[in-house]
Amino acid sequence: MQKWVVANWKMNGSKNLLNEYKNAFAESSNLIICPPFVYLGEPAGLKLGAQNIYQQPKGAYTGEVSAQMLAELSVKYCLIGHSERRQYFHEANDIVRAKAETCLRAAITPIICIGETLEQYEAHQTTHVLEKQLAECLPNGTGFWVAYEPVWAIGTGHTPTIDEITAVHLMLREKLPSTTLLYGGSVNGDNAAAIFAINNVDGALVGGASLDVKAVEKIYNHASL
Ligand code: PEP
Repeated sequence: MQKWVVANWKMNGSKNLLNEYKNAFAESSNLIICPPFVYLGEPAGLKLGAQNIYQQPKGAYTGEVSAQMLAELSVKYCLIGHSERRQYFHEANDIVRAKAETCLRAAITPIICIGETLEQYEAHQTTHVLEKQLAECLPNGTGFWVAYEPVWAIGTGHTPTIDEITAVHLMLREKLPSTTLLYGGSVNGDNAAAIFAINNVDGALVGGASLDVKAVEKIYNHASL
């Protein structure tokens, strides 16, 4: 079984990095790259995801990008509600849901990110926090993916234990039997095999390591079980 690898470059990368990806991967791979908007118009020959979208269809929203514009560039996926969007751009659950609905209307698969903060993790509130995020962020129906990304694991080199990821993904699977479920947070070439082997983990959302194509190749090689 081939698991997914979703590469979130954040506000990093270059045309060179895009070329390195083009040389390393084929469009048929289970790899989705989410570079900054400006690179989405380059003919990549890869599955493309955006990192954000605006929820209105068009209009006087300076600096924003609509679903229709992304769809025109053959963007098929979009990260929604990444913790950095929530932290720096104050995207609350209602905005996350509106953005996810906007994606679905444009036949773009929203990859909806949820996760607890360190404080919530230490207070054993993970399940409660995730259930509230699911209740408030998910659109009706199907067609979306969910990425479990503990905020304290993003870019820190720390991950939950295998048992903790297993428990969260079992909870998610029980609620979302046919939804693609990703884990994200400090995935790298060394821990990817163990994470992909977890039941109900359908793939990984990779941030920091996605800037090194060799690391992505290593992760991708473990994604085939
Ligand atoms: C992310 O930004 O979604 C992420 C998981 O980052 P990192 O892999 O660097 O923890």
